[in-house]
Amino acid sequence: MTAPTPPRLRFAPSPTGYLHVGGARTALFNWLLARKTGGTFLLRIEDTDKARSTDDSTRAIFEGLTWLGLDWDEEVVFQGANLERHRADAARMLASGAVYRCFCTSEELTKRREEAEARKEAFKYDRRCDLLPPAEVQRRVSAGEPHVLRFRVPAGETAWDDLVHGVITFPNKDIEDFVILRSDATPIYNHAVVSDDIAMGVTLVMRGDDHISNTPKQILLYQALGATLPRFGHLPMIHGTDGKKLSKRHGATAVGDYQHLGILPQAMVNFLALLGWSPGGDFDEVMSLEQLIEAFSTDGLLRKASVFDPKKLEWMNGQHLSRLPLEALEPRVTPLLIAAGLATADDLAARRDWYFTLLDLLRVRSRLVDDIVRQAGPYFRDTIEYDADAVAKQWKEPAVVRPLLAATRETLAALPDWAPATMEEALRALAEAQGVGGGKIFQPLRVALTGLGVSPGIFDVMVALGRARTLQRIADAEALLGTMG
Ligand code: GLU
Repeated sequence: MTAPTPPRLRFAPSPTGYLHVGGARTALFNWLLARKTGGTFLLRIEDTDKARSTDDSTRAIFEGLTWLGLDWDEEVVFQGANLERHRADAARMLASGAVYRCFCTSEELTKRREEAEARKEAFKYDRRCDLLPPAEVQRRVSAGEPHVLRFRVPAGETAWDDLVHGVITFPNKDIEDFVILRSDATPIYNHAVVSDDIAMGVTLVMRGDDHISNTPKQILLYQALGATLPRFGHLPMIHGTDGKKLSKRHGATAVGDYQHLGILPQAMVNFLALLGWSPGGDFDEVMSLEQLIEAFSTDGLLRKASVFDPKKLEWMNGQHLSRLPLEALEPRVTPLLIAAGLATADDLAARRDWYFTLLDLLRVRSRLVDDIVRQAGPYFRDTIEYDADAVAKQWKEPAVVRPLLAATRETLAALPDWAPATMEEALRALAEAQGVGGGKIFQPLRVALTGLGVSPGIFDVMVALGRARTLQRIADAEALLGTMG
């Protein structure tokens, strides 16, 4: 038995906006399958709509794919550069009789459509130009009369075995004789796509569900051009958490927006991979790119729409943040700490070990890189801000809290070393001597040291702060509590 030929896949975005998360998901699935099977992942920029295509969009597509790590094989194909082939393919179908010239003007067609609508009938082109005598067609062509080329849809039905949905069948009577070449000899979308997919040797077309109605037309074109059909797979739509099609209303929908919000590319890829695909069974949702490639299979493609939940993306980001090597995390955080005025590059370089330990500590409670920066203040500043809720809750009785903090400070000052185990032993002994639970010492202490109600483990916090700053901060808290009594 010979191994199956690896597929040639492509991502074919129209550069009319930024790289949308739906497009990125389509690109990712094609890429994963190519990398899994040893196939080829091609990129084609569908820039035939000159009025709507922009260089900025093309750049955003390249940047978005590159940020996600979805590299493409072979040269990028620009659809607009293939105009001559689109015309030649159309001419071939004209010669074989698969398409015919249509001289109906758009005004005439609009009028007929409106008349049909007034009669409450669905409008479908009535093939009147297909019935013109050949001599008349010749005469009108020679006279330079503008015309389009229309595909003559044969009787019967068009079906394919969709990779996601199984067999899909369209009765051909529901498909009108569609235009493939406009009167200015530019191709219509379906024709350009088929001509390019054939030329690029694409063997599997995987794209969004919104293209299902284009597929029967494209299959008819393949047949008319005598080309081998690729397989088709239509990926389910992506909805917002309200069940509606994902749109700007749901917040950021451009991949670049998430990049700027501090989402890690590996978290974005992981999140997108699970929109419409599942490895099946019990599985760990947090996967690296390598694990995704390993697990990916078209058998796991889901039929129903998936939900884009930004909260889940943030959670996923937190998971990847905590798995990132510290060397990779550091360059993401450092510029933000500097911009926040918390540290200088020299300061961080001078105490690199301490800084890495702090990063490791702060990332545990972080979903975004910004969360790390937000929690970092107490470790860099001489004075801290006290969170009103934390103060109200943990320093409710200043007259009780203040002497406990004073005793805590004295106990810590007397420790022989500044290690978590030593601190814990001494403070637990203090709690016992004072006849209170550990929480009565640790919670007010947390507020004293960080100003916050939640923080990393209290002993780790004290190590990160160092003895002098810890003792000073407790003394500051005592002074403040003295004014509150
Ligand atoms: N250019 C089309 C789009 O952006 C995709 C074409 C295709 O995948 O066949 O929706």
